[in-house]
Amino acid sequence: MNLAFKQPPKATHSLDSIADALLLPSGIDGVYARTAVFEQVVNGLTDLISEYREPNTEVLRFPPVMSRRQVEKSGYLKSFPHFLGCVSCLSGEEHEIRAALDDHESGQDWTPALAPADLVLSPAACYPLYPLAASRGQIPEQGLLFDVACDCFRREPSKMLDRLQSFRMREYVCIGTPGQIDVFRRRWMKLAEGFAARLGLSWGIDHASDPFFGRGGKMMAASQVEQALKFELLIPVRSAEQPTACMSFNYHRDHFGTTWNIRTANGEVAHTGCVAFGIDRLALALFATHGLELLRWPAGVRKALTV
Ligand code: AMP
Ligand code: ZN
Repeated sequence: MNLAFKQPPKATHSLDSIADALLLPSGIDGVYARTAVFEQVVNGLTDLISEYREPNTEVLRFPPVMSRRQVEKSGYLKSFPHFLGCVSCLSGEEHEIRAALDDHESGQDWTPALAPADLVLSPAACYPLYPLAASRGQIPEQGLLFDVACDCFRREPSKMLDRLQSFRMREYVCIGTPGQIDVFRRRWMKLAEGFAARLGLSWGIDHASDPFFGRGGKMMAASQVEQALKFELLIPVRSAEQPTACMSFNYHRDHFGTTWNIRTANGEVAHTGCVAFGIDRLALALFATHGLELLRWPAGVRKALTV
């Protein structure tokens, strides 16, 4: 990648050298216990993002699981089946559950007894919002703004600290007319520049695509870039050559509006867009840029994060 970063990357702290102080291994790649200092910065980020919340924005916090049916219907299963985590549980009569436990006790595999539940692990914070918004009826003329968040799961195990299986996502979402989404997304791409600058981060914004599944996915990704449906805020967390996407700016066109029959005030299918903050990645970017000792971080950054 040859991205011209605004604010040239400084000599960054290697993630490997600071990892032990931030994220403790769980034995599973991409799943970590977060230390107090990491969480202090996460809390600072969360509050700072709230400062950017616009008037008349409804706040909703979703749990880390959501309806399997909704994820199937929303198209996530079709586009990203390789990422989806589905909740499975033991169910049935007591003797059936006990048989699975006995299998385990005797060293056999107990997991064939698991049955998929009606839940999946949420893959993105905005997915549960669209059916909820649809259930309330037409979108008012001025459109709707939401502030949503949840712990997300994506099955992409990696040794890289910035690629997690379980991570936190915060999003601002707009539902309305195509024009309203366009204005919302442009506004946010500008705001994100100021946000990154306040955090003393080096950044660039570039076209992006989602890692759609399979061969057909490559065409979908190309079309996404061609139509400029996704941009990302990239930060040199590991290296300037392979910067890390810490925010994304997405225009879904009428995808969710059509799927959930969300209508605008004049009866047209609503369009949607979202701005996602990868909270754990932003925190890592801060540590990689400014080091482990919060007291030595630039005064402006400490003030912005109240750390
Ligand atoms: P996306 O929906 O893929 O645009 O994701 C929104 C944001 O979530 C990204 O810009 C990242 O900052 C963050 N994110 C996505 N996948 C991961 C992951 N595997 N580990 C950590 N953060 C992630
Ligand atoms: Zn979203």
